[in-house]
Amino acid sequence: MKLSKLASEIAESPTFALNEEARLLRERGEAVINLGIGEPKNKTPIAAVLASGAKLTSGEIKYTPPDGLPSMKKAVIRYTEENYDRLVAPENVIITNGAKQSLFNIFYSVLNPQDEVIVIAPYWVSYTEMIKMCLGIPVVVTPEDGTFTPRFEDIERAVTSSTRAIIINSPNNPSGAIYPPELIEKIVNLCEKKGMFMICDDIYHKLTFDHNKALPAYHFTKNDVENSHVIVVNGVAKLYGMTGFRVGWVVGPRSLVRVMTNVLAQTTSCVSPLAQAAAEGALNGLQSVVEALRLQIQNNRDVVLQEMQTFNGARLIPPQGTFYALPDIRAFSNNSVEVSKFLLKKAMVVVVPGKEFGMEGHIRISFAGSVKDVTEGISRIKWTLDPTSPNEIYIGDKKLIRDWM
Ligand code: PMP
Repeated sequence: MKLSKLASEIAESPTFALNEEARLLRERGEAVINLGIGEPKNKTPIAAVLASGAKLTSGEIKYTPPDGLPSMKKAVIRYTEENYDRLVAPENVIITNGAKQSLFNIFYSVLNPQDEVIVIAPYWVSYTEMIKMCLGIPVVVTPEDGTFTPRFEDIERAVTSSTRAIIINSPNNPSGAIYPPELIEKIVNLCEKKGMFMICDDIYHKLTFDHNKALPAYHFTKNDVENSHVIVVNGVAKLYGMTGFRVGWVVGPRSLVRVMTNVLAQTTSCVSPLAQAAAEGALNGLQSVVEALRLQIQNNRDVVLQEMQTFNGARLIPPQGTFYALPDIRAFSNNSVEVSKFLLKKAMVVVVPGKEFGMEGHIRISFAGSVKDVTEGISRIKWTLDPTSPNEIYIGDKKLIRDWM
């Protein structure tokens, strides 16, 4: 069958593929622990359930304006004022089917064929694929010093006359790193000087630990949203644990939002009003739900740090935010795909190979789940890889002995 070359070359989403593999194994009765997907285990905030329920009960479930329900946009405007200290107009806001659609539509709306976007490794798997789908070229900048924070000089050096945008995700999936404020400031200035967009994927912006904060890029520019080169992407998936509702949004210049609205109207028409009502409920409801989630995730992060202390050979830069850790496992193997397969086969634990994030020699561990899963999952990883760990383990009710080293 003859299919599009471009579409056929797009990689499968590794997190969703692994998630499916874990689900099938669990269905077969295997004691799988899924440290793959990034999805908090909380229940939907009650304010979201009630708002969406009321909408459903009204029986008036129709198309909304393509850029979003006015009341939902109002909630985003308030969120932006409270969290970003920026007053924006409804014309600066578009509601999308998840932050994923925000990002795709941004790339589609700003890129001409062969335009370049700077992506910093380790990066979220979908950036590079989305850029390619929009006929752009991802230009990856990788920190060379073993950290997850790029040097500004390396970013500057990657800029060419074809660079249209830089995408920044801090706190970062998959490393949990928060970029220092000086770096954000320099990137804001560089983008303004060169007329490039700075796309800020802020989907984890409140999930930060200890006293670390991710200062928004707006903090470093005096330009208003209309004249700034900053584009902010956010959503309810991670902060409110509402991954299944598929609601995200973009705050940016009107001209961009206008083009994105046409793209959205011609592709998905609008976001379901049920999902928008839920997101609006979450944004207007008690914000203590976000803090409760943050505390639970921070506690999980502490458990990860404690468990990793006895993992001889693995090196972990402590995550400062998100719910991911990206240990360096090069002491065991340089091939993260092989290691991940081995972990699933021997220990029934799902992790994502660092290769998928442009960071070979690492594995991504999601600690969004329960403390029990995190603790037991890391014990299994240690048992599989670290010869100094005890060589017996219970997986479900089976006692297993390590016999491969
Ligand atoms: N950006 C990053 C960095 C993410 O990790 C994710 C979800 N894994 C998204 C965007 C997409 O979020 P949504 O579920 O709202 O589409």
